[in-house]
Amino acid sequence: MGVTAPVISEILQRAADGGRITPDEALLLYTEAPFHALGEAADTVRRRRYPDNIVTYIIDRNINYTNVCVTACKFCAFYRAPKHAEGWTHGTEEILRRCAEAVDLGATQVMLQGGHHPDYGVEYYEELFSAVRDNYPGLVIHSIGPSEVLHMAKVSGTSIEEAITRIKAAGLASIAGAGAEMLPDRPRKAIAPLKESGARWLEVMTVAHRLGISSTATMMMGTGETNAERIEHLRLIRDVQDKAVANGYSVEADLAGTVGGFRSFIPWTYQPENNHLKGRTQATSLEYLRLVAVARLFFDNIPHLQSSWLTTGKDVGQVSLHLGVDDLGSIMLEENVISSAGARHRSRLTELIEIIRGADRIPAQRDTQYRHLKVHWTEADDPTDDRVQSHFSSIAIPGGGTGRSLPLTPAPVNS
Ligand code: SF4
Repeated sequence: MGVTAPVISEILQRAADGGRITPDEALLLYTEAPFHALGEAADTVRRRRYPDNIVTYIIDRNINYTNVCVTACKFCAFYRAPKHAEGWTHGTEEILRRCAEAVDLGATQVMLQGGHHPDYGVEYYEELFSAVRDNYPGLVIHSIGPSEVLHMAKVSGTSIEEAITRIKAAGLASIAGAGAEMLPDRPRKAIAPLKESGARWLEVMTVAHRLGISSTATMMMGTGETNAERIEHLRLIRDVQDKAVANGYSVEADLAGTVGGFRSFIPWTYQPENNHLKGRTQATSLEYLRLVAVARLFFDNIPHLQSSWLTTGKDVGQVSLHLGVDDLGSIMLEENVISSAGARHRSRLTELIEIIRGADRIPAQRDTQYRHLKVHWTEADDPTDDRVQSHFSSIAIPGGGTGRSLPLTPAPVNS
């Protein structure tokens, strides 16, 4: 450490000043930099990017249209193989009913997410998205992920470009960063051997960005990947974002819908229950927080950084706000995929706002494109509706909870 301290200081200073760091330098920071210095450099970047000191959140609902999936990822506790007795699909009517509940509670975004159903091609998604758009034009469809795009294109025999063009015309406004897991080949094959490669995940995002659809990028850490593979995951995403920027991506281009890019990076930790990996997560809170800080320093070309209180807990989520994070994500009125693998953290909107304010930040509700919808400058601006809470999980309910309403009475929440 003594030998590398001056080197680390120089890299931290350069990154804090807005300079680019290499993957090797990122790995050195991740493994060797003193925690407080790392966090201070990352927070310096946040303060320069967002001098208003605002930390955002969004109200949305993750609605799963089916848990039937042919891909059988080893870490997934959500899916059921075709013909499995616990498999279910939700019709359009049920999905619209859930959208209506979300809108009533102030949601501005819906994440429609499902397994790779053997029968669902582009036509299925066109019908689903157009129904949601036509009935709830104020609800932004930030949905599916590259692996679902690849699956629907395969089922329908279309190109990636045609699939995206058609579902965009049907109402898809933004692509979720889901399914990135670990992008490098070795760890990806170990946990999801039937899933499309990381290169294909990045290819779909590249095409979507070119077609004017922006997205998020995620990372699931803790399934046995090395530190170098974690940094390689970041590099792969930054390289694709460099292409988007070269093509004209900017916040303005995103708002105009001309050129897309990654709006944010969202790392989260693997949840170890009810799946075929059957191991405890190997990502500690400290490893997670260090990764968050390194991501803020490494991604000089991605505007936002979101932390995952759902998988790491609200305390870790709050600490992350001092390590470069400017967005606490969603209250998630409904979530089933990560919950089924053991994520049990719950919150209320009022509590999420307290967490942000408790970190000495100003809370603000945002939309999908990170525009501020309501800034809570003082407590007088805070919502008082305790019904806006996370999260209804319908996975354990037979049939996926068809017809079940969101529980609207305030429930005890854990940490
Ligand atoms: S993570 Fe997605 S693709 Fe993989 S098994 Fe689960 S539902 Fe299927």
